[in-house]
Amino acid sequence: MTEGFVKRERAGVCWFEPAEILAAGGVRGGFSTRIGGVSRANRESLDLGLRKNDDIAAARENYSRLFAAAEIGGMPAVLSQVHSDRSVFVTEEIPARGISLIRETEADAMICDRPGTVLITHHADCTPVFLYDPEAGVIALVHAGWRGAAACIAAKCAERMIRDHGCRPERMLAAVGPCICKNCFETDADVPDAFRASMGGIADPFIRKAGEKWHVDIAGLSAVQLKMLGILPEHIAGTELCTCCRADLFYSHRRMGPDRGTMAAFFEII
Ligand SMILES: [Zn+2]
Repeated sequence: MTEGFVKRERAGVCWFEPAEILAAGGVRGGFSTRIGGVSRANRESLDLGLRKNDDIAAARENYSRLFAAAEIGGMPAVLSQVHSDRSVFVTEEIPARGISLIRETEADAMICDRPGTVLITHHADCTPVFLYDPEAGVIALVHAGWRGAAACIAAKCAERMIRDHGCRPERMLAAVGPCICKNCFETDADVPDAFRASMGGIADPFIRKAGEKWHVDIAGLSAVQLKMLGILPEHIAGTELCTCCRADLFYSHRRMGPDRGTMAAFFEII
């Protein structure tokens, strides 16, 4: 697989960009690392979490460093992520009034067709999926943990872009970003069972049994769902970067438990 995410660094802040999507023009975006912020200890240092127990002042400073480095200028739109299959179309009402406020909108994907809003999803092993139709001028950003991926959230979001917002699968670009890899993601039977229930045998190549446990390729499963929708394989970028393997770059819920920082995916029309 060609590496679809390119490392960028500016003013000490490090993030990864979905290269083919940005090359199409008209958008900016990326996926943060833990490098370049002010947070300490297990949160060292670019913690972008906005949960109840997070240090909101540190997160605010970290967002402003990241967005200055990556030249992001829109009003942040943040969801209350609930591992669902729901997407929302972003209107003027959706963007948070500043990043300290988590919206009460419970969903895991956002669609947007205008400049001025930066879509933000939060991650610490769950997959970020970027979707873009350059001709329609429509973007989406998806948070796909295993529950969301098993509920086909990326494909449902892309389907909505096609049905309601003038996107065409043959023009659409997708990038499935850094998440926990299939070697690190050891699960019980509930995870493979959920994918087989929603996708049938198509899920089998992405599931491996090892003793009493299973290993599941959640990024690969989201990518194959997008292919089934008609998005061209050459338009679906991936990455070898694993949030659990790469302690130097990322926080990981699997590796660190709940006392950890949070990465953000961010995406805007310019
Ligand atoms: Zn890994």
